[in-house]
Amino acid sequence: MRRVVTFHYTLRDPAGRVLDSSAGGEPITYLEGAGQIIDGLDTRLRAAAAGAKLDVAVPAAEAYGERDPDQVRQVKRQVLPVDGELRLGEQFQAGSDRQAPTVTVVAIDGDDVTLDANHPLAGVDLAFEVEIVAARAATTEELGHGHAHGADGTGHCQ
Ligand code: ZN
Repeated sequence: MRRVVTFHYTLRDPAGRVLDSSAGGEPITYLEGAGQIIDGLDTRLRAAAAGAKLDVAVPAAEAYGERDPDQVRQVKRQVLPVDGELRLGEQFQAGSDRQAPTVTVVAIDGDDVTLDANHPLAGVDLAFEVEIVAARAATTEELGHGHAHGADGTGHCQ
């Protein structure tokens, strides 16, 4: 049986810095095995029941992958779709379609700009503090669509 799980989380890096958290906001709802959350977390929450609080360590390889040095490249400033001043750490999409990777500016040397298309969390082992808010069986409709329809199954499709 595949479930729809709703949970709150706080995500930390190995240094203990908080990278992301749902605290104070809406919890996350996902359909198991549908790729709605990272696989390494999805598989580790399979046995967790509503009300459970657990610490889940997900190695980089099962989260956003290892860093790929080939994803770092230098381009000329003029080819970038950015108006105005470029700043280190600035992120933008490397193309016009929605699937285009997000790149990060990691170095600027005159007209030469070094871009990193690795996910910002590539190579980072993740530590999740999770609280399962609710878990229920997925509906036939959700299984057919391949995603959850909200915590109670009546939400709109995204
Ligand atoms: Zn749907």
